[in-house]
Amino acid sequence: MADEEDAYNNSHRAFLQAFLARSVLTFDEIKPILAAILSVHDRRPTLANDITAPDLSAYLATLNARLGAMDLEIRSARSQHDRTQLYALVNTASDAPTQLATTHSPDEIAFVKRVLDAMFETHNTRSKEVMAVTGMQAARLAKPPAGAGARGSLGGDGEDGAQTQGSAGHGLTIAQAERVMADMVAEGWFEKSRAGYFSLSPRALMELRGWLKDMYNEPAGEGEGEGEGEGLVRVRDCEACREIVTVGQRCSNRDCPCRLHNICTQHFFRSQPNNRRCPRCKAEWTGWDFVGEKAATGDGGAGRRTTAGPSRSATLTNGEVDSGEDEEDDE
Ligand SMILES: [Zn+2]
Ligand SMILES: [Zn+2]
Repeated sequence: MADEEDAYNNSHRAFLQAFLARSVLTFDEIKPILAAILSVHDRRPTLANDITAPDLSAYLATLNARLGAMDLEIRSARSQHDRTQLYALVNTASDAPTQLATTHSPDEIAFVKRVLDAMFETHNTRSKEVMAVTGMQAARLAKPPAGAGARGSLGGDGEDGAQTQGSAGHGLTIAQAERVMADMVAEGWFEKSRAGYFSLSPRALMELRGWLKDMYNEPAGEGEGEGEGEGLVRVRDCEACREIVTVGQRCSNRDCPCRLHNICTQHFFRSQPNNRRCPRCKAEWTGWDFVGEKAATGDGGAGRRTTAGPSRSATLTNGEVDSGEDEEDDE
């Protein structure tokens, strides 16, 4: 693209509208949209395949420079399941309760916060980093636990706790809770796997990454010392691509902070496919110490899984995206 596109113009406004209409766009979906807009704006034909990734990056930089004043940004992240590059217009100052406030009641928001706590605390432990809940587990959270008032879980740090505290006692019926879970999928916050696990969608991870770390990671000195020096870290980034890992692999050493997306392991271990070692602690990288629902559906322990290890490792090292990994991403 020529230099004149570096300035913010009507084409950027039109492009922004495409994002307002869609929750998430892939690069392949963006190309014809941007080509059509530029064809009209520049009064010369631009083909979808003329749009390159660097073109788009430069174009988004111009657009984001304007959006920043409104705490908005078009962010990009790769799908954790495949390589698909995804783009979404997100609120950079976003927190989950406020984002949900436009479409959900305080009781519903309090329920969603209990579900998020279940994903990132209850079902995200040292031994099993599931970061997902089943419909059954979510239904059990319909009512706040007895004595929940004292905990003030919504808002966590107390910021938003007060305003919802009064409603903490009501909770939802099971049917209401099920409907909210379905709404969260329809609204693009959760995705539901074939096996019935709910987890945060790519869009939610793009939008809430800062909030999730603020909410669920405890800096050193504040926690109970579980994480030896790094505080208590429940939300971790991939060692390769630096994006949050909620589905992927972890180091076989339970004390090691290293996590990788499944797709990222293939690039990361390309030079040592048959002797994969953790880049941080040098422990064996098994390929079957999972993060995500597989941490729950497998037994998650080192014992029984040893027998499953070799065949799984073989499928992971032959350069293919292991297709078994991707079953859940087309829901
Ligand atoms: Zn990664
Ligand atoms: Zn390690």
